Amino acid sequence: MKLPRVELGQTSTTATSAVNATKSSTPARSKEHHTVADVVAAGLCTGCGDCVALCGRRQAISMQTNDAGDLVPVVDMSLCNLCGKCYRKCPAILETQSSQH
Ligand code: SF4
Ligand code: SF4
Repeated sequence: MKLPRVELGQTSTTATSAVNATKSSTPARSKEHHTVADVVAAGLCTGCGDCVALCGRRQAISMQTNDAGDLVPVVDMSLCNLCGKCYRKCPAILETQSSQH
């Protein structure tokens, strides 16, 4: 099932079920420090799984099936340092940014 599309920075009430598991412990972060949780919340994630490797040694990202049956990345905020690499290098984000130029 395709996740609903919402604008980046907004919160979807239906696309964040997998994110919500860790959201309560999410520290405050600025717009400059997005994670792939924001890609999922924006309905842009394709489930490619690239972000798991992008996170590298921190291994803060795991792919999990959400309530809608979609395979999506979930960020363990106890391991994440908010470096933003997973977001910046996410193919869905890069494609969105390139289509805006
Ligand atoms: S790299 Fe981007 S599109 Fe691929 S699974 Fe991670 S968040 Fe989704
Ligand atoms: S922001 Fe950095 S540490 Fe956090 S999940 Fe993404 S790549 Fe990993």
